[in-house]
Amino acid sequence: MTTTLQDCRALDAQDPLRALREQFVLPEGVIYLDGNSLGVLPRTAAARVAQAVTAEWGEGLIRSWNSAGWYSMPQRLGDKIGQLVGAQAGEVVATDSTSINLFKVLSAALSIARADAPQRRVIVSERSNFPTDLYIAEALCKERGLTLQLVEPEGIAAALTQDVAVLMLTHVNYRTGAMHDMAAVTQAAHAAGVLTVWDLAHSAGAVPVDLNGAQADFAIGCGYKYLNGGPGAPAFVWAHPRHADRFWQPLAGWWSHAAPFEFTPGYTPAPGISRYLCGTQPILSMTALECGLDAMLAAQPLGGMQALRKKSLALTDLFIALVEERCAGHGLALVTPREHAQRGSQVCLSRSEGAYAIVQALIARGVIGDFRAPDILRFGFTPLYVGFEEVWHAVEHLKQVMESGEWQRPEFNQKHAVT
Ligand SMILES: *Cc1c(COP(=O)(O)O)cnc(C)c1O
Repeated sequence: MTTTLQDCRALDAQDPLRALREQFVLPEGVIYLDGNSLGVLPRTAAARVAQAVTAEWGEGLIRSWNSAGWYSMPQRLGDKIGQLVGAQAGEVVATDSTSINLFKVLSAALSIARADAPQRRVIVSERSNFPTDLYIAEALCKERGLTLQLVEPEGIAAALTQDVAVLMLTHVNYRTGAMHDMAAVTQAAHAAGVLTVWDLAHSAGAVPVDLNGAQADFAIGCGYKYLNGGPGAPAFVWAHPRHADRFWQPLAGWWSHAAPFEFTPGYTPAPGISRYLCGTQPILSMTALECGLDAMLAAQPLGGMQALRKKSLALTDLFIALVEERCAGHGLALVTPREHAQRGSQVCLSRSEGAYAIVQALIARGVIGDFRAPDILRFGFTPLYVGFEEVWHAVEHLKQVMESGEWQRPEFNQKHAVT
């Protein structure tokens, strides 16, 4: 049974989340399948940031730290993010970058795990984890004389030996879109005496996450992907309440102090997650991120992350089915797992030749996905604003790019700095 354009239009007509798209500015003629890399512009953001610049900064000046609520933005935005990842109010702060937050929580997890078991000297992660995560872990291991052990996904359980302090994983893999069972993996880690650090860069706002339900130990995530916070938006950090007060994170700047405006020379960490802040926050970027979070939370009355997940799976199922129906014989292989429980909100295809150029040819046609070395064509499906008809057209363009061979043109084979 083949899927027609009419079928896709019918799916859009029945989509209970369709109106949420109106919250975003999407350029005419673009099918945006890269919200997993940089989310789109919330319609409220330009005016809200302009107001923060002209009124709050221009007129309010330093008074705005109190009067405009600037000072409490990490906690206020953190509480909004918490609703999307199964954290309680007061458990998350929005701050710094994902890489920096990883450094903080990985330090904390190592210190806590090793306080009772100093013989545990290993961090386990996946070889295919996002490189910044591996680099931060490698640097921390070098500094502390520890070892980073990299394994394939199927080797994780066997690697959890008595030498291991921390298991550091990205919940949804950035290249393949494969998703771990957070609760099951955490349970296996705890049974082996190992703490877990989860990177939610491709999960927050993309798939339901229940950090407390999974009994996870630490988590971090990204503000500019599915949360639509804008380029370089602040990231977030969560520590399970059982750990939050146990450790001074190493970037113990004054914003993490219990009483920053006492200006005492000695350090006393703030209680709870606020000790994971470091210094003064980028308020204008925080302002834009809050617009993205509010747009995301507008889905709560419509069923929230569960409803978004249902649509996301329908979109990715449709994309897979259409690629297999319409693009067969062109050497495109499905990399992302077919099983729903193992799939994030993206679909990756691989092709031994021309993957980069095919993505460039699609971008020239207005279908924006991205390429991940060495051979992956990556397509993100953000259920807040991607529609079913768009999926149909995206696959039609892919079919035409393959049939015409236009990807072989020299201009599509010229590598740019950012892929
Ligand atoms: C996108 C992403 C990051 C980004 O880190 P930055 O510090 O924002 O550059 C980190 N980890 C993973 C798994 C990612 O997907």
